[in-house]
Amino acid sequence: MDIKKIRQDFPILQNGIIYFDNAATSLTPEQVLGAMNDYYRNYKANIHRGVHRMSMEASKAYEAAHEKVAKFIGARPEEIIFTKNTTEAINLVALSIDWKSGDKVVTTMIEHHSDILPWMLLKKRGVVVEFVREDAEGTIDLEDLKKKAEGAKLIAVVHVSNVLGCIAPVKEIGKIAKKAGALYLVDGAQSVPHMAINVKDIGCDFLAFSGHKMLGPTGTGILFMKKELAEKMEPGILGGGTINKVTLEGFELAKIPDRWEAGTPNIAGMIGLGAAIDYLNAVGMKNIEKHEAELTKLAYEGLSKIDKVEVYGPKDLKKRNGIVPFNIRGMKPHDAASMLDNIGKIAVRSGHHCAMPLADRIIRRPEGTVRASFYLYNTSEEVEKLIKTVKEIAKMAP
Ligand code: PMP
Repeated sequence: MDIKKIRQDFPILQNGIIYFDNAATSLTPEQVLGAMNDYYRNYKANIHRGVHRMSMEASKAYEAAHEKVAKFIGARPEEIIFTKNTTEAINLVALSIDWKSGDKVVTTMIEHHSDILPWMLLKKRGVVVEFVREDAEGTIDLEDLKKKAEGAKLIAVVHVSNVLGCIAPVKEIGKIAKKAGALYLVDGAQSVPHMAINVKDIGCDFLAFSGHKMLGPTGTGILFMKKELAEKMEPGILGGGTINKVTLEGFELAKIPDRWEAGTPNIAGMIGLGAAIDYLNAVGMKNIEKHEAELTKLAYEGLSKIDKVEVYGPKDLKKRNGIVPFNIRGMKPHDAASMLDNIGKIAVRSGHHCAMPLADRIIRRPEGTVRASFYLYNTSEEVEKLIKTVKEIAKMAP
């Protein structure tokens, strides 16, 4: 990986910021900006319904984006549904399953709110929600999961925790879900951008992730849904573009995935996402994974050695990816993050990271943590600067 060359593609990096807030959203390279600009400047039109040349060109580019995303995760293009983000993708699943009172959803205590709240909303309709136990490093208690999986309609787990960086054994969980006859949803918001993923390998029915966390623009998300389910289930959101025929008596759904994408989608954004996938493929997901593992090791070991600093998540670095959460004793996470910005122009996130049950029950710090998260354009020099600056700040802590 030629990091120097990669960095030149990201205009924001020219302003001297050290960007370690990649788990919230990634930066966007010129290639993605260029693809979106090209659409707006040269062929902006709505897709599918037009027969004029610009509409056809836009439809072709939009469909090409489906194909690129599908190939990226080992799926078929018709199994790729574009949404605005991971949150919408998970909600679309929640809205589209035919729930009956007494149906059970099993999830974990380390989920992002996006993978908790849609299920909690269903409680009002009589759906039972159960949470599997985890230890302090975020390791799922598989025996507890096996017990709770019995009779479940859906099992929903986060692949990589956005707070702890721990990697869940998604393949093993897939086998448990299959044995229990449950549908299986994986929240891939923090895994798909950072590692080579294959949905067949995982054995999931649904995989939700965000394009904006993988070099794409904001307002881009993806729901992978197995073909049989995409054809069998009824979309919870319908409107323009989703039907073949409507009469006052009823309607006939369009082919998949169109029936799942109601209304005018984020056409420019998805064309940009296609360019982002091209970019990631050119660098190579295995290379990205390896590079992030090196930065994680450096950060984890460096920060752990600092007096007054506590680092969270798996000690076995093979069980985590590029997310390093920490706290400086005697200092609130927001204060530490703000000092990192003021002193070192280092952008990190702080707080509960939209995972309050995790902050309360697993980390036992309701105010959360400081979180550094890495991506392909980050360097070891930047991580060294983070360690040095945290050391300086820790000296000032009471
Ligand atoms: N799940 C996880 C694990 C996440 O990290 C995030 C984003 N922080 C989400 C879901 C939600 O993603 P989005 O905001 O793009 O909907």
